[in-house]
Amino acid sequence: MGLCPNMVSGKDLTSLAKRRLLLFIPLLLLLTGFLLYSGFSGSKNRPVTREDFAMGSLVVQRLYGKNAKLAEQQTIDAILQTENQGISWRVEGSDAANINAAAGSHPVAVSRSTYDLLQTLKKLSDDSGGAFNPVMGALTQLWNFDENARRVPSESEISEKLAFCDSQDLEFTADGQVYLRRSGNRLDLGAVGKGLGCDIASQMMTQNGCSGVVSVGGSVVVQGSKPNGEKWGVAVRDPFLKEENQIGILWLEKGFVSTSGDYEKYFVRDGVTYHHILDPANGYPSRSDIKSVTVVCDSGMLSDALSTVCFVLGYEKSLPLLEQYGAQGLFVFQDGTIRRTAGLDFQPTGGSHEEK
Ligand code: AMP
Ligand code: MG
Repeated sequence: MGLCPNMVSGKDLTSLAKRRLLLFIPLLLLLTGFLLYSGFSGSKNRPVTREDFAMGSLVVQRLYGKNAKLAEQQTIDAILQTENQGISWRVEGSDAANINAAAGSHPVAVSRSTYDLLQTLKKLSDDSGGAFNPVMGALTQLWNFDENARRVPSESEISEKLAFCDSQDLEFTADGQVYLRRSGNRLDLGAVGKGLGCDIASQMMTQNGCSGVVSVGGSVVVQGSKPNGEKWGVAVRDPFLKEENQIGILWLEKGFVSTSGDYEKYFVRDGVTYHHILDPANGYPSRSDIKSVTVVCDSGMLSDALSTVCFVLGYEKSLPLLEQYGAQGLFVFQDGTIRRTAGLDFQPTGGSHEEK
């Protein structure tokens, strides 16, 4: 019996089903792969969040865009590279460690980025009358706030180390080498690592067409358009209370925000708070009128450096420096009052503090 063209035999049916199944499996794999991929990568409306530890701080990335996952991986890789090969004096073989090891002996060849960074920091040191000082390693190691030390060094220990904290001892050769003049000099770039991390995050967002927010400890970068079209809101911590309490929100389209305060690394002895931001004039924790200062500008490294130095300088002396560097500042005073420069879009969220 002949078969009607519309009918198929049992044998034929099995092979057709097999053919269809064979076609269907790759489609299914493709679809699953796509769902898995889109589930782990970002989109215009849904961010990818990732947390790591670098620069002695928690790094939190929250990026939008189809390359968000890649951008986040590249960001953390590059931050760790800058830390380990460039600026951490603790990592043997880094530029900073090599310069420290050769102090008083010979100049050291460093990467272009380390060379440029150190030149910028020496200029900031000059511009701030020495209040910013990248050559304070001898003293910061004595106080040792990074390792939760709780000892107040003696006056003689402090004056002995202070003698080696002169940023004029940092010198540069024309062929890209860096030199610390005296054998007791030590670099400490802890004031700028978190902001540098934000600069790196910004570059990776740009390269990968992403938008989002990245924080490295007390430094934050926001960039690109937000899904709802609003500005980005960066919460400013209340320096008198626990981390989750805020004094207000800074609204930004793009930029870098860094905060320095006496609540980050500190201990209290006989009613005195000893914290990690040192006054190069006397070697002790800075005693300005400031409890915390937040700086906004278009460079993460500078926002970080400026927040540290403004904390040392206090309100009045900080204003011309902020203007010189095209930056804005928000100051919380020891008595709880708040003052800020004119260019900030700041929304106070109440609490015990008063804006003047
Ligand atoms: P930050 O938390 O960004 O304000 O930076 C504080 C860190 O910078 C300290 O832990 C020290 O490593 C370093 N540092 C402390 N005082 C100064 C200063 N006057 N100038 C430059 N770096 C400093
Ligand atoms: Mg800083």
